[in-house]
Amino acid sequence: MERYESLGPVGEGSYGTVLKCRHRDSGRLVAIKKFMDSDDDKAVKKIALREIKLLRQLRHDNLVNLLEVWKRRRRWYLVFEFVDRTLLEELEQNQSGLDLNTSRQYLYQILRATAFCHQQNIIHRDIKPENILISQGGVVKLCDFGFARTMASPSEGAVYTDYVATRWYRAPELLVGDIKYGKPVDVWALGCLLIEMLTGQPLFPGDSDLDQIYHIIRCFGNLTTHHKELFYRNPVFSGVTLPECSVRVQLHQRFPTITPAALDLAQVSRVAPSFLDKIQCFLQIDPLHLSLYLYRFLDELNAKI
Ligand code: ADP
Repeated sequence: MERYESLGPVGEGSYGTVLKCRHRDSGRLVAIKKFMDSDDDKAVKKIALREIKLLRQLRHDNLVNLLEVWKRRRRWYLVFEFVDRTLLEELEQNQSGLDLNTSRQYLYQILRATAFCHQQNIIHRDIKPENILISQGGVVKLCDFGFARTMASPSEGAVYTDYVATRWYRAPELLVGDIKYGKPVDVWALGCLLIEMLTGQPLFPGDSDLDQIYHIIRCFGNLTTHHKELFYRNPVFSGVTLPECSVRVQLHQRFPTITPAALDLAQVSRVAPSFLDKIQCFLQIDPLHLSLYLYRFLDELNAKI
């Protein structure tokens, strides 16, 4: 740490602090993530080690770059390249949303980052505006791999129980308590993020898990039979009746000014089967998952940028 001069905190996470620092010799700016004492707290240790392992494996232009790691006095220190601001800050400064071109450029880069992780069989599980860093030149870097994890192959019948990510960006399967989820949870978060970039407003700002489910149903209609079954089997919701929605407020009604191409991501019937096959093969995820339509954007954006 002596090699760096601290310029003050830039972020406070659940498991430590992020400091902006300057390397004394080179003058290089870095962000140092300093975890809490990890010997006493098993959860902190697990998260720190998981993040280090995954970040060493993941090198990409749109992922935050890990420069060095050390452990001192029972704390882990992770040194990253410093990135100027977060998408959250940018959205706070633009309360009516970002312009279409900026949203497209950001989304394109976030999709590249996510697709890269998915190709390495890693799901991020906590994609949200705070975890998207943006450099002065407009380069997007996905950060915070503390919740990310490697997927076991489906034949191993993997179940995941330790999911705790931010509610507003949580996919329906997570809300109802499905323990067999996968890459689509990231794609769902990307869909929420896209609408938030375009409008400046969080898409589904639920104030409880039940309210979160209600927000989703009101927009996209009732849950699937499988998700309903999981809901009623989940002890967390025992005695609770699943909200039914009588009047749907669909995306195009709620956001009449958004470009139809962006809203297309929610229009299941419009997507050609051949396109679905292509995506499914690329990502190996459930073709019926609503948020998949975002990947159609990747093609469109590839052609435009
Ligand atoms: P935690 O897992 O503790 O939430 P994060 O990795 O999400 O930690 O970082 C917390 C905050 O610190 C981010 O939301 C961001 O504001 C800031 N931050 C993280 N990494 C960087 C970086 N490389 N450059 C600049 N700021 C960063």
